[in-house]
Amino acid sequence: MVDGVAAGVADVERRVVAACERVGRARGDVTVVAVSKFHDDDAVRAAYDVGVRDFGESYPQALRDRTAALPDLDDVRWHFIGTLQTNKAQYVARSAAAFHALDRVEVAEALGRRLGGRVLECFVEVDVAGEATKAGVAPADVAALVTAARRVDGIDVVGLMCMPPLAAHPDDNRPHFRRLRELAAELGLTKLSMGTTADFEVAVEEGATHVRVGRTIFGDRPARPPG
Ligand SMILES: *Cc1c(COP(=O)(O)O)cnc(C)c1O
Repeated sequence: MVDGVAAGVADVERRVVAACERVGRARGDVTVVAVSKFHDDDAVRAAYDVGVRDFGESYPQALRDRTAALPDLDDVRWHFIGTLQTNKAQYVARSAAAFHALDRVEVAEALGRRLGGRVLECFVEVDVAGEATKAGVAPADVAALVTAARRVDGIDVVGLMCMPPLAAHPDDNRPHFRRLRELAAELGLTKLSMGTTADFEVAVEEGATHVRVGRTIFGDRPARPPG
């Protein structure tokens, strides 16, 4: 897997630059979060070696193991992008710079209790597509969660996140991205975490400040975590 990582990073970079140019955005306004879930530590190191500093993990114990295995990569910003249960909050509170999937005030409170004076940037996850089975809060409930989470010490609500259904065509998710942008604007939030391998260029065109890209960088994921 390590072999293709530098090429994958370059491919994403080229495509993000092109998407920014199409809509007149500055490249510096978009953070590419390299989603390393299930890949081995050497793959993370390979991305680091070509300049990647933002990495995303989806499982709390995987984040814990990753940071323990790579202590020398001390300028990495770890993004926790998965659903979090309150009883696993310590793993995220300890080492994440940002949490992209806040969906309940109880999770914000559990994180807040364990931050020890640190500040954690949080995105509220929104179920923009209205799928009953999907994670995230309904658009109508976002404002209340943002208000409640902001009262928690250490929790800095910076934006909204969405994970729309896997689209047959990237453009299929454009309306969802647009909806997320409008919701964020209504709430005065400036950051948008949206877009994956399936649709990150469309997401950048629609205002994403954070795209979460795994497969284009690291290749297909192993079915299970290594080890
Ligand atoms: C796995 C994952 C991604 C990355 O998906 P790819 O298809 O590998 O780019 C992005 N966001 C979340 C929430 C994920 O779980």
